[in-house]
Amino acid sequence: MKEASRSLNFIEHIIEDDLKTGYGKDQLRFRFPPEPNGYLHVGHASSICLNFGLGLRYNAPVNLRFDDTNPTKEEQEYVDAIKRDVSWLGFEWDQECYASDYFQQLHDWAVTLIENGKAYVDSQGSEAMAQQKGTPTEPGTNSPFRDRSVSENLELFEKMKNGEFPEGAHVLRAKIDMAHPNMLMRDPVMYRILHKAHHRTGTDWCIYPMYDWTHGESDYIEQISHSLCTLEFLPHRELYDWFLDQVVSADTLRPKQREFARRNLSHTVVSKRKLLQLVNEGHVNGWDDPRMPTISGLRRRGCTPEAIRNFADTIGIAKRENVVDVSVLDFHMREHLNKVAPRVMAVLDPVKLVITNYPEGKEEWLEAENNPEDPEAGSRTIPFSRELYIEREDFREEANRKFFRLKLGGEVRLKNAYIIKAESVVKDEKGEIQEIHCTYDDLSRSGSGTEESQRKVKGTLHWVSADHAFQAEVRVYDRLFTDATPDQHKDKGFLDFINPDSLQVISAWMEPGLKEAQPGDRFQFQRMGYFCVDPDSTPGNLVFNRTVTLRDTWAKIEQKEE
Ligand code: ATP
Ligand code: MG
Repeated sequence: MKEASRSLNFIEHIIEDDLKTGYGKDQLRFRFPPEPNGYLHVGHASSICLNFGLGLRYNAPVNLRFDDTNPTKEEQEYVDAIKRDVSWLGFEWDQECYASDYFQQLHDWAVTLIENGKAYVDSQGSEAMAQQKGTPTEPGTNSPFRDRSVSENLELFEKMKNGEFPEGAHVLRAKIDMAHPNMLMRDPVMYRILHKAHHRTGTDWCIYPMYDWTHGESDYIEQISHSLCTLEFLPHRELYDWFLDQVVSADTLRPKQREFARRNLSHTVVSKRKLLQLVNEGHVNGWDDPRMPTISGLRRRGCTPEAIRNFADTIGIAKRENVVDVSVLDFHMREHLNKVAPRVMAVLDPVKLVITNYPEGKEEWLEAENNPEDPEAGSRTIPFSRELYIEREDFREEANRKFFRLKLGGEVRLKNAYIIKAESVVKDEKGEIQEIHCTYDDLSRSGSGTEESQRKVKGTLHWVSADHAFQAEVRVYDRLFTDATPDQHKDKGFLDFINPDSLQVISAWMEPGLKEAQPGDRFQFQRMGYFCVDPDSTPGNLVFNRTVTLRDTWAKIEQKEE
């Protein structure tokens, strides 16, 4: 993958400094550590691009580590989805690791901590422990079980492990300092009892390690040089280091935790918990619903991995949290699709157009370029005949001079075909236009080389031949939320801002060559936007998702409203 030439970000500066002060280049190693409790979203893409981007820049291995220490929320389905998404984004991990593979090692280290008087079994309920925690300005108080003997602690911990106690009966805590200014250092819990089967270790364990105890030690086991996480873990760094102090031995690499800001995207939510709620409550049709900000939803909608990577690179990484406008992602979708998506014609809201001076029964196959941005894309032929469909909104009986589409008495060019002139309309009893009757200039065919073919008219319309076109379902998506920051309101929840019109299903007319399109294929429907074939398609019944419009229509609406 090509690496963008740009100035170093602050994480890269940290690494450069470390390379100058003792780290060897071959010691660099990174990891992306998702918890398999949901599907990856566009926020994760930032972390993926950061970690794997560093791997590419420094030619260093990057592990994919599943942080799977909470069996109540984690599932194999999520593991599989995460692997699929990281691969689809175009990254290759070095080792596939699981925190659960370290359960035995973590347990053995915990025993060492007990033996060294650095951990103890607390037999109070969680409420009592919370009361003793103190506040940021007041010290906490010691648990009455804090001074248990080493042998009693070892015996109790062994029994916890063997399943002799119910959930909540005991926890293992690190013995640090109940008066520590950092609340997280006030004897944090290392293990809790959970009688739950784990998706990988089954019922082997009924004590599960907590995040803080697991993460740094896993980094150490894998010899990760730089463990990059989001800012909310900044106060955890002290504890990360304390736990490492208990196990790191000489001549091994000591991992470093460094933090960067979480990325939020406007008009959506990037939290697996909230996304799970959207799925479970049926607000969307699954994790890969094209309206979801998940990687799988974006893929299904027609977004390319390049667009997501370019998006992540452009917004870069930051030290402070902010909200990135979703239009930035849309921009990158358009920019990449413009280069790679073949152009085709499809009419989404049809009205019939009859060319009265075109011979009945005649058909012509006209040459059409597949992608003007890509000379390699070649061309195809499309059928033209006497009866066509054009977009209803492309015609007006009367209009001012600024309307460059078709009006009575006016001329337009039909894309790749002829110049036509609108002569009259046929209406039904309700006054709705049924047919537009036109004449064409038979010398004006695009590419025919005649003087007439070079004649400039203001508007160019897309069209399909009525007899040759076929109908397909088109799912037109809009933003899932009407508010820019739906989960940032004090008085309302994010579900209060769901856009009731985020999905519109229509039946559109397609040029015949599209019959061969396969799920995942992406196209530009000329003048209408980018579309992608949905996996719901069946051979006689294609379904297209609208990926993104050609222009930012919301920008206009928001301007008008100002
Ligand atoms: P969520 O709240 O959505 O579950 P998480 O941080 O709990 O997010 P993890 O699976 O633990 O999800 O995340 C894996 C990695 O991705 C972590 O290093 C985490 O910091 C990072 N990450 C998660 N969300 C974002 C985001 N919005 N922006 C940048 N990085 C993120
Ligand atoms: Mg999490």
